[in-house]
Amino acid sequence: MDDSVRQHKYVLAEDQMPTTWYNLVPDLPAPPPPPLHPGRMDPVGPDDLAPLFPMDLILQEVTGDRYVDIPGGVLDVYRQWRPSPLFRAHRLEKALGTPARIYYKYEGVSPAGSHKTNTSVPQAYYNAKDGTTRLTTETGAGQWGTALAFACALYGIECEVWQVGASYDSKPYRRLMIETFGATVHRSPSDLTDVGRQLAADPANWSGSLGIAISEAVEVAAKDPKTRYSLGSVLNHVLLHQTIIGEEALLQLELAGDTPTLIVGCTGGGSNFAGLSFPFLREKLAGKIAPQILAVEPESCPSLTKGVYSYDFGDTAGMTPLMKMHTLGHDFIPDPIHAGGLRYHGMAPLISHVKELGLLDAVAVPQSECFAAAVQFARTEGIVPAPESSHALAIAVRQALAAKETGEETVVLTALSGHGHFDLAAYDAYLSGTLVDEAVRGDRFDESLAALPTVG
Ligand SMILES: *Cc1c(COP(=O)(O)O)cnc(C)c1O
Repeated sequence: MDDSVRQHKYVLAEDQMPTTWYNLVPDLPAPPPPPLHPGRMDPVGPDDLAPLFPMDLILQEVTGDRYVDIPGGVLDVYRQWRPSPLFRAHRLEKALGTPARIYYKYEGVSPAGSHKTNTSVPQAYYNAKDGTTRLTTETGAGQWGTALAFACALYGIECEVWQVGASYDSKPYRRLMIETFGATVHRSPSDLTDVGRQLAADPANWSGSLGIAISEAVEVAAKDPKTRYSLGSVLNHVLLHQTIIGEEALLQLELAGDTPTLIVGCTGGGSNFAGLSFPFLREKLAGKIAPQILAVEPESCPSLTKGVYSYDFGDTAGMTPLMKMHTLGHDFIPDPIHAGGLRYHGMAPLISHVKELGLLDAVAVPQSECFAAAVQFARTEGIVPAPESSHALAIAVRQALAAKETGEETVVLTALSGHGHFDLAAYDAYLSGTLVDEAVRGDRFDESLAALPTVG
C-alpha cells in the first residue's frame, strides 16, 4: 500500500477570493457581432432590453471594460461557498494508470449544487436594487430554477419557473427543492401563456424544451412592468459572472505549481465553460500559457459541432433578440437525454464567436461514455457528478488514456459544474443497462435549420 502524502485539495482563504469578474471581449482580436431586434433587424439598444433586465445587467451585457467589480453584497453571499475547492484527481489518475495530471474545480459545493448560483445571486441582487418584485425564468433539469429560487429567497423577490415538461415529469426532487426555496414551478408548455397554449396544440411539443420554456417566461415578464426575466446561461453578463471560477482556478493552480495543457468543459449554453476558460484564454492571448481549450457537448444536441453559425432566436416562439451563434434551429426539440442542462438549441454568442476566431475547439460525446466516466469518477474521487459535468470527464479520461500511449505531458483542468444527487434515475438507467445512445442521423437537424430566420 502506498502511504505517501499527496496534496489533493487546493483551497484559497476567503480574503483571496477575486473581487472582479473578467470580460474577455476587449482582449479579442475582433468584437462579437451585435444582437439584433427581432422585428427591426437592427442592433438592439439598452432601451429594447429594459422591459426584461435591470440596467446594471444590460450595461454588463455590452460593457467594454476588462474587469467589473463584484458588489460587496454579492461577495458576502459568494463567501457561503466560495472560493470553491480545486482538487487533483490522484485516485482517478491511478485507476487510469496515466501519467496525466487531472485537476477539477468543484462547483457542486454551492447551495443549489452547481455553478449557477454564481450568476443567480448577482442577477437577483441587481433586480432587487432596481425594484423588481418578481422574476420569471425557464429551467431544464432544474439546476437553474433551484439557483434562481435560492437567490430570490435571499432578496425577497417572487420567483416563477417554467420547467421543461420532460424534466418536470421525470425529476420531481428538483421541483420540490425549488418550491422549498419559495418559488412556483409550472410544467412547460403551460396554459398560462399565449405561447404555451399555441405550442401545446402540437403533440410534438408536449415534452417541452428550453426554447419553449424561455418563450413562456419572457412573455410573462414582458407584460408586467414589475416583473423581469432572468436567464441562466448564454448571455454575456451570465458568462461574465461565471469567470470567478477561472480566476480562482488560476490562483489555485499557482499554489499547485502547475500549468494546464488542456482546459475542458461541458457546454449547454456555455456559461460554466466560459467561466472556467476565459481567464485562462486571457493568459493564453498574452502569450503566458498555451493550453488547448475544448468544449464538450452531447451527441444528441451538438450545436457547436453540427449546428451552423447564424443569427437565430434564443427561444422557440421568436420573442428574444436574434443572436449570432452556433445553433441547431430555434424550434429544434432535442431528445430527452439525461443531461437536461445541455439540451439547448444554441450556444452562447461569445463562445460561438471565440470558436469562429479559432480560439477553442469542440467535440461531441455519446452519453454512455459520459456515464462510464462519471461512475469511475464517483468510485475514485467520491463525488457523484451531474450528468452535464460527466461530458467533460469523458474527454478528460480519453485524454488521460491517450497520454499513456503518447507519453506527452498532459495536464487537464476541468470544472465539475455540479453534483448529480438529483439525477440518480439517470445513473439507475446506466447501471441497469437501459441507457441507450441515440443514433444521430445526419438529417436530424435539417428541418429546424431550414427554419432559421433570414437576416438582410
Ligand atoms: C446548467 C448546467 C450546465 C450547462 O450550462 P452551461 O451554461 O453550459 O454551463 C452544466 N452543468 C450543470 C451542473 C448545470 O446545472
